[in-house]
Amino acid sequence: MFHAHGYAAHDSHSPLVPFTFERRAPGVNDVVIDILYTGVCHSDLHQAQDDWGGSLYPMVPGHEIIGRVTQVGSGVHKFKVGDLAGVGCMVDSCRHCSACKEDLEVYCEEGPTVTYNGRERVSGQPTFGGYSDIIVVDEHFVVKVSPELDLKAVAPLLCAGITTYSPLRHWKVGPGQKVGVIGLGGLGHMGVKFAKALGATVVMITTSPDKGKDAQRLGADEVLLSTDPAAMKAHGNSFDFLLNTIPVSHDINPYLALLRRDRTMAMVGVLTELDPPPAGINLIMGRKSVAGSAIGGMKETQEMMDFCAEHGIVSEVEMIAIQDINQAYERLVKNDVKYRFVIDMASLKNEVS
Ligand code: NAP
Ligand code: ZN
Ligand code: ZN
Repeated sequence: MFHAHGYAAHDSHSPLVPFTFERRAPGVNDVVIDILYTGVCHSDLHQAQDDWGGSLYPMVPGHEIIGRVTQVGSGVHKFKVGDLAGVGCMVDSCRHCSACKEDLEVYCEEGPTVTYNGRERVSGQPTFGGYSDIIVVDEHFVVKVSPELDLKAVAPLLCAGITTYSPLRHWKVGPGQKVGVIGLGGLGHMGVKFAKALGATVVMITTSPDKGKDAQRLGADEVLLSTDPAAMKAHGNSFDFLLNTIPVSHDINPYLALLRRDRTMAMVGVLTELDPPPAGINLIMGRKSVAGSAIGGMKETQEMMDFCAEHGIVSEVEMIAIQDINQAYERLVKNDVKYRFVIDMASLKNEVS
């Protein structure tokens, strides 16, 4: 067993506070990782404040984890001590269902074991995430990280990166297509970068006029202000694919009007019901689809990491100390981050020592 230190939520409405807990002793296939950086995903906030119901407390959030391997089990073959390592949203799955066999562990028919706010499959112990100094994970759920990239800015790839890369690949986004990314936060800004790198013409679809200034730097060809009905009308019936990252219930009907016939909008942001719901007519006329997508499997996560290394793609980050996490959550709610907070975990070590 390892004594671990981190920050935890103890209920749905109190600030996160320092917390000490135990990590399991490494098994044969486990790697022990000293955490360097952890990204702050909007899902951390949703779960800490129990927006989706069923949250387990105390909860140590964090599923965008970059660290260095300090110990490996005897059966580990992918990693050695000193290697860089990344951990995302899952730490286990059943490994034998059809989804697991097809490298789609996130869609495990028995449910994947999530990095925090879940329970370990064998012991039933709660899982604790990356707002902490150390983590122990089966190597199957750990990805290799290129030392060439800025590690701080790599952390968000483990969730924001794969969650946007996977649907863009699944719906075969590429040259000659017009792709819209809706919501320019942690996920959305990665969606813009990936869609551009895949060769599409990319439109940032935002509620925030000031984010338009960043469009070119992020790789977008155009900006569409979704609060401007005339601009929305002008782009009507023109998109080949839409990636919707909006984190809260909203009206998707105006976005459906942007799609061409037979095209799809993939939802990755909102997990709760849509209000108002989509009108049937907006799907029927034009044979349009609304789909969903969850992170990505481990094989694809490694592919995405390698794609980023090859194309020099990282996240735009604002570094924070762990002691600033509650303020960061407040700013996230106010849509005041460009475009991902990342915790420098050295700040936690300073507190502990
Ligand atoms: P984020 O950084 O807060 O970004 C969300 C963006 O959505 C905001 O920057 C804003 O962009 C836009 N937005 C916010 N409120 C809005 C509203 N009321 N109406 C219209 N647009 C709004 O969040 P994130 O970390 O990217 O996460 C986005 C969502 O994805 C969260 O709900 C998270 O839980 C979910 N998620 C899902 C998966 C998955 O596997 N499917 C994985 C990770 C996260 P503009 O200012 O540009 O409008
Ligand atoms: Zn996430
Ligand atoms: Zn499975």
